[in-house]
Amino acid sequence: MISVKGLYKQFDDLQVLKDINIDIEQGKVVVVIGPSGSGKTTLLRCLNVLETPTSGAVAIGDQQLDFSQKVDRKAIANFRRLTGMVFQNYNLFPHMTALQNVMEGPITVKKEAKSVVEERAKELLKKVGLHDKMDYYPFQLSGGQQQRVGIARALAMEPNVMLFDEPTSALDPELVGEVLQVMKDLAKEGMTMVVVTHEMKFANEVADEVIFMDNGVIMERNVPDVMFQSPKEERTKQFLRLIQ
Ligand code: ATP
Repeated sequence: MISVKGLYKQFDDLQVLKDINIDIEQGKVVVVIGPSGSGKTTLLRCLNVLETPTSGAVAIGDQQLDFSQKVDRKAIANFRRLTGMVFQNYNLFPHMTALQNVMEGPITVKKEAKSVVEERAKELLKKVGLHDKMDYYPFQLSGGQQQRVGIARALAMEPNVMLFDEPTSALDPELVGEVLQVMKDLAKEGMTMVVVTHEMKFANEVADEVIFMDNGVIMERNVPDVMFQSPKEERTKQFLRLIQ
């Protein structure tokens, strides 16, 4: 349901992604690992076209964008709606309550009726365990709570795919578990997810496939057991030794 074909991304002279090819079936969880600067965030941002790929094609369901041709803005906006993004630093609107943050996208982007959106937003905040914090502003919430609002906000757009960019790396260690738990629940419900993370235990438990990126290429990919117990590439072994 997600397909990436021959994807390249260049910033000035720097080739950040080189011939990336990925296919992800609906309901699967793919975890992307790799050293700093290997292109993980750029890959996620190309999947929702926050960055415009230099060439190649991405598809979600029956919507495809082919960057070897000029892609119009409307097609990009429609495509982006298929994805929900969760950022490392939450990116909540500071002047809006948790509930308002979750309601904002469906109302302004999708032009949905406020009453319908409010109902859904409240359900989502309950789902991420924040039924009693709906009227709190981000500064009144812990990092873990803010990130759970971030997840609810992404889900409020009813995306086909959820993209997570190091969702727990800004959190104090004791707050990581509550965010990972919400992500595990989502995976169990069958949400298609692409997750950039350094949480190898999560990857081991939840991922259907782990992709190791290095220097802009997919160096190795496999089911978690094989990736973590018996990686093939020397570069993967080195990386895993460093972080485990
Ligand atoms: P980290 O784990 O540190 O977040 P990463 O694997 O996610 O790293 P990216 O953030 O995708 O790596 O960055 C890959 C390379 O692209 C880096 O060399 C980075 O400096 C460069 N890069 C990323 N965004 C831009 C940009 N907007 N302009 C220029 N260079 C960029």
